[in-house]
Amino acid sequence: MALAEKTAIDLGTMPEEAAALAEIRAMVQPCIQCGTCTGSCPNEFAMDLTPRHMWRLVLLGLAEEVLASRTFSLCSACYMCTLRCPRGLPLTEAIGRLKQLAARRHLPHLRSGDLFYRNFIASVRRHGRVREMEFMGLYFAQMMNPWLPLRYAGMGGRLMRRGKVALQLPSRGSGRLVKLFEKVAEMENRS
Ligand code: SF4
Ligand code: SF4
Repeated sequence: MALAEKTAIDLGTMPEEAAALAEIRAMVQPCIQCGTCTGSCPNEFAMDLTPRHMWRLVLLGLAEEVLASRTFSLCSACYMCTLRCPRGLPLTEAIGRLKQLAARRHLPHLRSGDLFYRNFIASVRRHGRVREMEFMGLYFAQMMNPWLPLRYAGMGGRLMRRGKVALQLPSRGSGRLVKLFEKVAEMENRS
């Protein structure tokens, strides 16, 4: 299915999405809109909706507006909002659920971050640690933007000079973490 078609799917027509959203809504139902989450968030400066605003939209059932924003995708799971929320709400976990929903939809405005994350994790799964050259090579290839590698060239050069990144031969990896990844996927599917 093309990306544009995927994003056109209405939440209400997909029972599993509607159920997931109902769960997220229930998690933040006691929100009193105090704004402590916004004031605590170190990434709020880059977000288009503040965390408080995002939770208000969730409570109003305006899921499309939430998923059209970048706010939840910029959460670095620092847990500050969760720790400081006066209602003790599981905000970081709720954001994690929003990220899962968005990942299943393959939203175009989150495509870059989505591919970055997927290739990073795929490299860790194959090798037990990230292999920077392979991971970035696959990411650039999937982004299909010939100018993109140039944007990272300066940083890549600096990292190589400092010995943080090395040229590596292609490898299929040890696969020693595969069982662990499979177990986590099994647990996520059960929850
Ligand atoms: S800190 Fe908690 S109660 Fe306050 S706005 Fe954020 S989610 Fe709502
Ligand atoms: S967990 Fe996410 S939303 Fe909450 S304060 Fe940290 S970065 Fe912000």
